[in-house]
Amino acid sequence: MSSQSVLQKLEILADAAKYDASCASSGTAKRNSMGGKGIGSTEGMGICHAYAPDGRCISLLKILLTNHCVFDCHYCVNRKSSNVARARFTPQEVVDLTLAFYRRNYIEGLFLSSGIVKSSNHTMEQLVEVARILREEHDFRGYIHLKTIPEADPEIVHQAGLYADRVSINVELPTDSGLTRLAPDKSAAQIEGAMGKVKADLVEAKDARKRFRHAPRFAPAGQSTQMIVGADAATDSDIVGKASRLYDSFKLRRVYYSAFSPIPDASAVLPLKRPPLIREHRLYQSDWLMRFYGYKPSEVMQATEADGNLPLDIDPKLAWALKFREQFPVDVNRASKEQLLRVPGLGVKAVGKILASRRHRTLRLDDVARLTLSITKVRPFICTVDWWPVLLTDRADLRSLLAPKTEQLELFVA
Ligand code: SF4
Repeated sequence: MSSQSVLQKLEILADAAKYDASCASSGTAKRNSMGGKGIGSTEGMGICHAYAPDGRCISLLKILLTNHCVFDCHYCVNRKSSNVARARFTPQEVVDLTLAFYRRNYIEGLFLSSGIVKSSNHTMEQLVEVARILREEHDFRGYIHLKTIPEADPEIVHQAGLYADRVSINVELPTDSGLTRLAPDKSAAQIEGAMGKVKADLVEAKDARKRFRHAPRFAPAGQSTQMIVGADAATDSDIVGKASRLYDSFKLRRVYYSAFSPIPDASAVLPLKRPPLIREHRLYQSDWLMRFYGYKPSEVMQATEADGNLPLDIDPKLAWALKFREQFPVDVNRASKEQLLRVPGLGVKAVGKILASRRHRTLRLDDVARLTLSITKVRPFICTVDWWPVLLTDRADLRSLLAPKTEQLELFVA
């Protein structure tokens, strides 16, 4: 291993990190180097992203400290029984790479995770050391996301939060039974215990900053987690239920969903095929419904089909509306914000504009059309001063009329 160059290590450890989906840098504290002090910024563009072969957008520098691991999680390419090339960075090497990429404007910060070497505490200390050197020795003001190890001493995880913008602990699988079967070295209780401790630290730090302006920040971009979808038999209902419980219990900023990718040299207990990527997308849409559209988890679950999974051909909001047609049409000139947010095809921004416009005048169908991407999708569910859908909302073939053509699955519409 000692003969590997930094570039060879980077090749192995950047590739090994691509399976982690939780790399967004949203919601952090504003920090920049304007005024000639420090280096880096959490704002602005010039960020280099790369697309992995499976189509996932990954940002540089997203790497593992090492892909050696003493654990044997079946779904993981880095598990101890996996026959892959191994590498290990020193903390200083990660620091040097981060600064070099940052200065070239390739990256907006660092996403650092690791396999477990020697012990959880030792690995966590190494991760913290990277962040410490960047912040304390180089006054690095860019974004740092540290993946933390639930089995590590809470005091070391606490240190991570003092340097990082965001910390995350992966729950890995939606059910405890799935975790026991596929990650035998991990414990659901330990993972949730660690998340609970991070939540307590977040609350305490926020409270302290209210009282003392200079109290240390703790992970200002909060904590997040990731769930693997499709590696076990958990349904979308199970996943939505778990996500909602995690949001409620641990003050999570985000739950990321990662469609299971078959890995080289896969364990025999794993499915041979990956789930369709659109399933991951439908779960993100359901997550938005709960976070921004006022849906209760039980309502998102109502949108699932008999097998407990969300339909793939239509989005969960449309699926819910088609099941509960008696709630429609809603009058765009009189309906509450909550009712308008239930209309398929109306996003949060469009609803805001409708509410603002209707203070000044009565809206017509054309006015709504100007605020949406597709009035065809909206029309069956609304009425305006010049439009009433008559029998359209009750048509038996409404789903097929509104479902996007297969080749046009709308990947980016809320
Ligand atoms: S602990 Fe992490 S790196 Fe190690 S096998 Fe499990 S998922 Fe992979």
